[in-house]
Amino acid sequence: MLNAEMVKKQARALGADVVGIGNIERWKGAPLQMDPLQIMPEAKSVIGLVFRVMRGSLRGIEEGTFFSNYPAMGYGGITYMFMPMVVRGVCQMIEDEGYEAFPMGGQSDWRGIDNVGDLKPGFSRPVEPGKATPDVMLHLRIGAYLCGLGEIGYSKMLLTPQFGPRNRVGLILTEAEIEPDPIYEGPPLCNRCMACVTQCPGHAISGEKTVKVNLAGHEVEWGEIDNTRCIVAFRGGEEADDTWPEEQEYGAYGSKRTRPAEWSPFHKKPKNLYNTGEAVCGGRGCMRACMISLENRGVLQNKFHQKFRRRKPWSVDWAAEHTGERTEEGAGRTE
Ligand code: SF4
Ligand code: SF4
Repeated sequence: MLNAEMVKKQARALGADVVGIGNIERWKGAPLQMDPLQIMPEAKSVIGLVFRVMRGSLRGIEEGTFFSNYPAMGYGGITYMFMPMVVRGVCQMIEDEGYEAFPMGGQSDWRGIDNVGDLKPGFSRPVEPGKATPDVMLHLRIGAYLCGLGEIGYSKMLLTPQFGPRNRVGLILTEAEIEPDPIYEGPPLCNRCMACVTQCPGHAISGEKTVKVNLAGHEVEWGEIDNTRCIVAFRGGEEADDTWPEEQEYGAYGSKRTRPAEWSPFHKKPKNLYNTGEAVCGGRGCMRACMISLENRGVLQNKFHQKFRRRKPWSVDWAAEHTGERTEEGAGRTE
């Protein structure tokens, strides 16, 4: 008889770091485009699987010498290669017990909504009135929260007690009724230190405006995120003004002209690794600054012998290169 321990044992044996289970009622009131019952109307349980991003995968970005390891082995590699195999293996075991199981790795390239949650114009249409527009996309971080795997931090990142913000999440929907875990009530992780806000290079996380939601009876609040700002900075760019020469543009994002920012050593945006692979800012605020803050407070279970930040953070003075003037450590931009 299928039970929670069997599911968790299988998931861990296959390579998931942490596993939690939520009953489907916790998703009551989910937006139509993010409602698991739109995918599997008879679903009874959601299984959340956390895969750690190696702290070492962030080392090359921290040192300014190797950026692609985070997308290759962390951000994209886990999502597109490792996680689907693990999630599938857990589903195999559930289906062997006679219950349908829907394997959801982190991939969502066909989703009907954009980064802000709006329907993509001209992309797809519901198959009948009342149904969501394909593809439905479950909110992975909120899904992990509802499976009891951690907190949603001020940065809107999932913070787990094991790894802080260093997580990728997979979800499984199943018709099996499996004993749920409680919503996370362990030691508080986010202490509103605001390091994510002050160190986000794209100024993408508001320090004042917040978003409040009710998740399964729990009030959760995070800082308002400007997704466009994040996407530009995340790729290593910043908006270019009219004085910036066209031939030195970093790569367009929509209608925005961008130039290389001081947190990117690349003249042009590097090509994607997998579909999500830029990650040039390396989560300066929401990932690295948050992790440093949580580690300094000693609240994470994954402990290291040495602290993460060991040298002064680097920056690149593109403005001086552009004008021919050199300034000290990029502090005195000339524009
Ligand atoms: S950096 Fe501080 S405020 Fe931001 S999510 Fe992490 S702990 Fe919370
Ligand atoms: S990924 Fe980078 S730009 Fe986006 S919120 Fe995190 S720190 Fe800011």
